[in-house]
Amino acid sequence: MKDYYAILGVSREATQEEIKQAYRRLAREYHPDRHPGDKAIEERFKEINEAYAVLSDPEKRARYDRGLLEGQSFREEDLFDLFAQVFGFRRGPVAPRGEDLEAVVEVELQDLLEGKEVEVAYSRLVPCQACGGQGGRRVACPTCGGRGVVESYHRGFFGTVVNRTACPHCKGQGFLLAEACPICRGRGRVAREERVRVRIPPGMDEGQLLRVPGYGNLGPGGPGDLYVRLRIKPHPRLKRQGADLIYRLRLGLAQAALGTRVEVPGLKGPIPLDIPPGTGHGEVFELPGEGLPHPGGRGALRVEVELTVPKKLSKRARELLRAYAEEVGEPVAPEGFWEKLKGFFRK
Ligand SMILES: [Zn+2]
Ligand SMILES: [Zn+2]
Repeated sequence: MKDYYAILGVSREATQEEIKQAYRRLAREYHPDRHPGDKAIEERFKEINEAYAVLSDPEKRARYDRGLLEGQSFREEDLFDLFAQVFGFRRGPVAPRGEDLEAVVEVELQDLLEGKEVEVAYSRLVPCQACGGQGGRRVACPTCGGRGVVESYHRGFFGTVVNRTACPHCKGQGFLLAEACPICRGRGRVAREERVRVRIPPGMDEGQLLRVPGYGNLGPGGPGDLYVRLRIKPHPRLKRQGADLIYRLRLGLAQAALGTRVEVPGLKGPIPLDIPPGTGHGEVFELPGEGLPHPGGRGALRVEVELTVPKKLSKRARELLRAYAEEVGEPVAPEGFWEKLKGFFRK
């Protein structure tokens, strides 16, 4: 790992202000514009910016101090942008990267057990073949002479200050279209249907995004990224709760009172489960390791008992229940009571 403190020449206890001051001094000294063609200086300049990008961000700095910041890769334009940000001016035109895109992919709950490779179909913008991505016939912008930036000079404390801004006429592009391409209507890009295979990791969460670098729209500065959003098809019998799965087991009165053996729909197939006699409504049986994978292992399958009371009973079933009620001393309504009551209200 590079020693960012040494690169900026500050101590590990340096304050944010000291870091910023060191950076301003070094970045000015090593700016490639002052040493045209010197590769060593350019490398040093990049290092200085990289060090500042990390140390000026308290969160990144803390992670770096603990040795946790993994080999972060900085894009060259980002480092130059950082310089521009600190010194408060804009560089010339930067070829913009293509836009990021989002696509939705739907998987079954079972697919999350071991992960799954899926094909994502989506549409992205690519350079128009007809005009080679130029958008038509281009002419240099007369306002900025094709440079994309306009400069204004004013005298400041340290001498003449050059203020560069994007050319308002060509919006910083440096050119204007003399004739638009009929295929892309001057946009330089057309939509193309794409397919990309991505691997859904085990236990991935609904709504989570999976980044597929380089599969976004194509821009002059390279492609953007594609983000795949995960949607999980509802399972007919299981509900997901983090890494746990919930199954509502419906039990009849006799089953709950006398005990039974049932089959619970596990993700890999039915799992036998013994229900002991005297199981009550709302009781939960936990099957550890039968849920979804998570970093520490697998969640549980939780079986929640739902006691169902019959709405309609045969004459014989009523008689048996009545005998049962008598046996255990539960007072119940006499035979025919409810029919009589209904008749009373109808009058
Ligand atoms: Zn212009
Ligand atoms: Zn075109």
